[in-house]
Amino acid sequence: MILFLGIGLFVYLKTPLVEARENILIEVNSNIKASSLIKNIKLGSYENTTLDTSKVGEKEIKIKTKSFLNKKGTKTVSYKVVDTNAPLLEVEAQINVQQEENNNLLDYIFVKDNSKEEIEPKITGDYDLKKEGKYKLKVSAKDSSGNETVKDVVLNVIAPKKVESNTNNNTSSNTSKENNQKENNTINTPKKTKKGYDIIEKDGVTYINGILIANKTYALPKNYGQGLTSETSAAFTKMQTAAKEAGLNIFIKSGFRSYQLQTEVYNNWVKLNGQARADTYSARPGHSEHQSGLAMDINLIEQEFANTEEFKWLQKNAYKYGFILRYPKEKESITGYIYEPWHYRYVGVSLAEELYNNGNWITLEEYLGIDSKYK
Ligand SMILES: [Zn+2]
Repeated sequence: MILFLGIGLFVYLKTPLVEARENILIEVNSNIKASSLIKNIKLGSYENTTLDTSKVGEKEIKIKTKSFLNKKGTKTVSYKVVDTNAPLLEVEAQINVQQEENNNLLDYIFVKDNSKEEIEPKITGDYDLKKEGKYKLKVSAKDSSGNETVKDVVLNVIAPKKVESNTNNNTSSNTSKENNQKENNTINTPKKTKKGYDIIEKDGVTYINGILIANKTYALPKNYGQGLTSETSAAFTKMQTAAKEAGLNIFIKSGFRSYQLQTEVYNNWVKLNGQARADTYSARPGHSEHQSGLAMDINLIEQEFANTEEFKWLQKNAYKYGFILRYPKEKESITGYIYEPWHYRYVGVSLAEELYNNGNWITLEEYLGIDSKYK
C-alpha cells in the first residue's frame, strides 16, 4: 500500500501541472514573455522566454518546464499575434515647399507601422508643386491588417527665396557678445559645463561653444524649428552626391520633426512599449534633435542598417561633410540613447573632424562636458 502511494506520488511529482491561458492575443513586435501565456503552474517551474511576436498570425511555443524532481518537459501553448495599432504617420500639418525645388511630396511623409511592413502613404487631393498656392490634402497610411491613419495636411507652395546666410554662426557669435556684456555688468555669470564651456541660453535655445544642444538635459522651445536648416540640407546633398559616385544611395528617411509631431511620435512609442523603453530611443517633445533642423535619420531606422555598405561609407565619410554619428555604440549612458546607426547630426566640418576620432566617435556630451538626463 505504502509502496503504491510512493510510486503514485513520485509519478505525480514528475510532471508539473501547467495551465495555459486561452485565446491569447498579442500585439505584433511587442516585448512579451512566456509568463503571460501561463495561468497557473504547480509542482514545477518553466523557462520564461521571450515570445516571437515579429509577424502577424497564429503562433505556437514549446515552453520548457521542469518538475520539482528535475524532470524536464515542454508545454505547447498557442497564441495569436495581431496588429491593432494604426500606422504612425509622420507628417507636418503644414508642409512648406519652395516652388522651384525639385520636390517630391513623399519626402515629407514617413510611415512606420509596428508590423514593420513597408507602407506607401497615399495622398488625396490636387496639388501642383510648380505653382504657388495652398493645397488642402489628405494623407493616409493603411497596414495589411486594415488599420488606417488619416491626416489633413496643408501644402504650402511658396515662391523661391534667396538662400539664407550662415545663420548658425551669426547666432552663436551674437550670443557670446551679449554674454560678454552681461559678464561685464557683473550679473548673470553663465553656467559652465564640466569642461569649462559657457552654457548660453538664447530665446530658450541652449548653445554651448556655439553648438546648439538638444538632448535629455537641454530642450528646445515649443515653437522652435521650421525644417532642416539650409546649411544642413546643402551639406546632406553634397554628401549624397559623393555617396552616389561611390555607387551608393543614401536618403533622408526622417528629417525635421516639429514639437507637435514629436509629441505624437513619442506618445505612440510609449503606448507600444512603455515609457521606460521608449525613453531609450525616442525623445520626449522638445528634447528631440530632429526639432533642431540639424539632424536626420538616414535610409533605414533599424539596427540592421549598421551592416549595410551605405552605413560603412557614412562611417568613413560623413565627417567630411560636417555630420557626426550622434548616438554611437556603447555610449548609451552618455548620450541617453541606444546605438542608432541611422541618426546623424550636422555640426560643421571642423567640429565633425574633431569628433570623428578615426571612427571612434566622441559624443557631443563628452566633448562639451555635459549630461543627457531628464530632470
Ligand atoms: Zn533620429
